[in-house]
Amino acid sequence: MKSTDEKRSRVKTIVTALAKAHPDARLALDYGNPLELLIALILAAQARDELVNSVTAEVFPKYRSAADWAGVKQESLQTQLARINFYRKKSEAIQQACRALVERYSGRVPDHLDDLLTLPGVGRKTANIILGNAFGQAAIGVDTHVARLSQRLGLTEETNPDKIEADLVAIVPAKDSVRFCHLLQFHGRRVCAAKKPACLQCVIRKSCPQVGV
Ligand code: SF4
Repeated sequence: MKSTDEKRSRVKTIVTALAKAHPDARLALDYGNPLELLIALILAAQARDELVNSVTAEVFPKYRSAADWAGVKQESLQTQLARINFYRKKSEAIQQACRALVERYSGRVPDHLDDLLTLPGVGRKTANIILGNAFGQAAIGVDTHVARLSQRLGLTEETNPDKIEADLVAIVPAKDSVRFCHLLQFHGRRVCAAKKPACLQCVIRKSCPQVGV
């Protein structure tokens, strides 16, 4: 088992190398404010980010506030979101979350983890992605790429996302935490694919215990 200091040092090397390889790394979902990010994240579960961006480009201009989203007729919202999988469930989740925002947070998305976790349908991953990206806080949202690459890179042996998050918080500098997630997401899509990682082209292969596996 590698020491925490060894992992911290390797994280620095990894962030530096991946930042050069993927200077365009960013959250793949389009949004203009915390509310739009919350809605985009609900829609993005098991859906392609490009499709979500295409749909939200049409609906975001129509509904500007949580009250707008909460007030739209259910059938109308479902029709507008019908290109996305599980659109009925997701429409309902969006409206439940927006009603909670109106009733308990004056229509604003809260900027504290504990408050975000009280919203229907919002788990730690979604809450941390909102805190990190919409509010500029140090937060690690463990999505599928962050989990998979952290395991391959030997930064965690955990499989539970909450435990992976705790392991990463201990070794990723707070100032790099959001960028670290974006870099792993881009590297996971472009190079370190789940089934066939392109280890020969990988700029962090010297830092990776799973190279060639
Ligand atoms: S060396 Fe291979 S397994 Fe390791 S991060 Fe790079 S592509 Fe992924």
